Amino acid sequence: MANNTIQQMLIDFNREFLQIILPEDAVEVVRPQAGLLKLSREKDLHLIKLCPPRVNADTFIKVFKEVAGIIIKHKPEMDNDINKILNALPDEPVSSELFVMRVFTPGTNLLESFQEDISPETFSFILSHVVRPFMKLYARKVSTFYDSEQWLKNTCPVCGGKPTLALLEKEDGKRYLYCGMCGITWRFQRLGCPYCFSNESLFFTVDGMDKYRVYYCDSCHGYIKTVNEALVDSRNLDLFWEDINTVHLDLLAMQEGYINESSEKAEK
Ligand SMILES: [Zn+2]
Ligand SMILES: [Zn+2]
Repeated sequence: MANNTIQQMLIDFNREFLQIILPEDAVEVVRPQAGLLKLSREKDLHLIKLCPPRVNADTFIKVFKEVAGIIIKHKPEMDNDINKILNALPDEPVSSELFVMRVFTPGTNLLESFQEDISPETFSFILSHVVRPFMKLYARKVSTFYDSEQWLKNTCPVCGGKPTLALLEKEDGKRYLYCGMCGITWRFQRLGCPYCFSNESLFFTVDGMDKYRVYYCDSCHGYIKTVNEALVDSRNLDLFWEDINTVHLDLLAMQEGYINESSEKAEK
């Protein structure tokens, strides 16, 4: 498939997913004591473990079906696989709640929840799109539980995932990392690889697209697309769309053998 076809498909796809708006009570959180929050900073304990989201199971299942419908519309060839998964979803309250709780527990193998054989790829494809709006709402509700200027780690303070994208700030040239799952940014050291901390800072750019740099690392073969804020209209900057609109940079980096670890080793 040509690059621009892939990109257009992603844009159409994601526009529809963004129509899914959750009610405020879809996610509830209990604020941990101050001591625990301090500990989370010291011990690399992500908020999803410290104060897991309590997700409304009915809303979750409803959104799951909605997302499945959108995917079938765009990828009719997945119809069979998706319907199998929909039929296998838990349908009574206790099992749905347990299932949804496990979705938001890092490290859980959800496939074990199913008696039937379902396609693992199709399931995680749907799931990643279902989980995202819930994680965004959760991230908003826990936004006062951490200091995004002080976190300074290479994993998302909320979900523990690896960064999808980076942003070089205009004013002081600070670097921020962005989690595509939670939609948040946090500050990180200006130079060096955000995956393995190697001091190398190599990047490439593409003609006519100077505002993007792709930093890559020859120690761990990670890469991260980076938006140079000085060269963009920062009032309209939306990193979610920046990520999608630069998918050809991902393809270039991957052709050279580099990987973006956010899609490989995220805790979620
Ligand atoms: Zn995150
Ligand atoms: Zn590295």
